[in-house]
Amino acid sequence: MSLFPPELIADLRLQANIVQVVQEYVPLKRAGTTYKGLCPFHSEKTPSFHVNPEKGFFHCFGCGAGGDVFKFLELYEKLTFPDAVRALAQKLGVTLPETQSGPGDSRDAALREALLGIHEAAAAYFRDQLAGSAGARARQQLAERDVAAATVEQLGLGFAPATRDGLRNQLLGQGFAEGMLVQSGLVVQRDNGDVVDRFRNRLIVPIHRDTGSVIAFGGRSMEDDEVPKDLDSPEPPIYSRGRHS
Ligand code: ZN
Repeated sequence: MSLFPPELIADLRLQANIVQVVQEYVPLKRAGTTYKGLCPFHSEKTPSFHVNPEKGFFHCFGCGAGGDVFKFLELYEKLTFPDAVRALAQKLGVTLPETQSGPGDSRDAALREALLGIHEAAAAYFRDQLAGSAGARARQQLAERDVAAATVEQLGLGFAPATRDGLRNQLLGQGFAEGMLVQSGLVVQRDNGDVVDRFRNRLIVPIHRDTGSVIAFGGRSMEDDEVPKDLDSPEPPIYSRGRHS
């Protein structure tokens, strides 16, 4: 498996002006510190698609699509992550190295691998829940918001049921250790020692980084009066290493 070194990805992300890149495809208007326009990933009449140049990401409050400049290219141009990296490098006039291997601490690599496995398994669980009987109401809400089934699939949207520990039990059953689940941030340990799911009764939007893998989730509340409306799982610190800030 060939990966680009994280430093290269970080450099490209820094060099790219996400507003400029998005504007090649979507007309944007300045709105304070961010820019907004009509979302290219679902049909809408009033703009809920925001681009934040300072933080380098886009987010649609209508359909939940969001991510960095690479994610935008992946979704819009229907590219794999490596191809999105190549496309952006080309736009910036940067020549990519032919061989890609970097020094890496093998213990970090093993931890990273385990966390990626957990996120992958969780993404599959959330998708299954959305497709199943527990997700009926969430599917209906998506349909009411004009989010097409193709978009749901493309974004890998899912649903966290209202159960207390459905995800935890699923992942334990798949052989993941409880300590790793807590490290992933997808389950949380309460003060009384109980270990429960972070997301309950929420629409789930996977968050991808660098390699295109899922590394966190955003959870949008299904009820209007629920607080917080949007809840993100923490990005494990291991992914932040080597990135510029
Ligand atoms: Zn949208």
